[in-house]
Amino acid sequence: MTNEMNGKVVLVTGATNGIGKVAALELAKKGASVTIVGRSAEKTAAAAAEIRQASGSSAVEFLLADLSVMAQVRRLAGEFLQKHNRLDVLVNNAGAYFSQRQLSADGYEMTFALNHLSYFLLTGLLLDLLKASAPARIVNVSSAAHTMGPLDFNDLMTEDYGMAGFKAYGRSKLANVMFTYELARRLEGTGVTVNALHPGGVNTGFGKNNTGLVKAAMKIFGRFSLTAEQGAQTTIYLASSPEVNGVSAKYFDKCKAVASSEASYDLAAQRKLWEISEKLIAV
Ligand code: NDP
Repeated sequence: MTNEMNGKVVLVTGATNGIGKVAALELAKKGASVTIVGRSAEKTAAAAAEIRQASGSSAVEFLLADLSVMAQVRRLAGEFLQKHNRLDVLVNNAGAYFSQRQLSADGYEMTFALNHLSYFLLTGLLLDLLKASAPARIVNVSSAAHTMGPLDFNDLMTEDYGMAGFKAYGRSKLANVMFTYELARRLEGTGVTVNALHPGGVNTGFGKNNTGLVKAAMKIFGRFSLTAEQGAQTTIYLASSPEVNGVSAKYFDKCKAVASSEASYDLAAQRKLWEISEKLIAV
């Protein structure tokens, strides 16, 4: 254990597996008090126990929510606020790829609900606490897949799913970057920073929730991918490194700020996405 994050309170979503689990472990090893979020009681309790054991820290707890369901995101935020009087780092990481179009319990296209709306709503509900804990950080795990195209505001729920889910996934990850930039503008002067990142191609559970060709392709892709430990590095860096003190509104790859897609910098589209998301989370 080191003490770089002593006294810091961190919340990591999607920490039962893959990138989120490694990030939670490494932040716990750095001395942070870590709350992980998962959707399965059994799996999440086991992940928290494993992180406690591997980090040597007892300050690892868990909360449960299916983050594709906005009422559960609200409950989660309420439970966190009841237990904690500060939040130094929020890591929005839980996400998935769906090769078949599905609807969330709220009736939204699943990829958009889980990958974008949960980041938007959870962050919004915890923003006052982050501001009160400033300097604080928000880390949004996006993807290079965000470059796949502009958002289609006439089809945000991707009715025209096509291409085995790539379109919906790419849009959701573009929404992560656009949300990051719009939020950063709204947070100027508050001491709360927000950045997005691409973790690399990483061999995790990612994509393996699907069946058939997509599942098989993910297994092959896994052989040529980064390990979860490697893929978590940029997340850990943005959550903890003093090098990014005060750095906001950037998109990172391999722990370096790089340009994101041209579409992601469209200010009018960023604002429009924000306004639409506000309406959608009010389910
Ligand atoms: P994993 O599938 O290994 O982990 C995803 C995590 O999200 C798991 O903890 C999973 O929980 C959780 N999750 C999924 N759906 C829900 C839900 N409805 N409610 C709550 N939690 C949920 O994938 P990664 O670690 O690879 O993915 C992490 C992030 O990285 C994602 O945002 C992904 O888009 C992004 N990313 C990944 C890349 C890769 O190559 N792996 C590339 C680019 C970006 P459970 O254990 O219950 O399934």
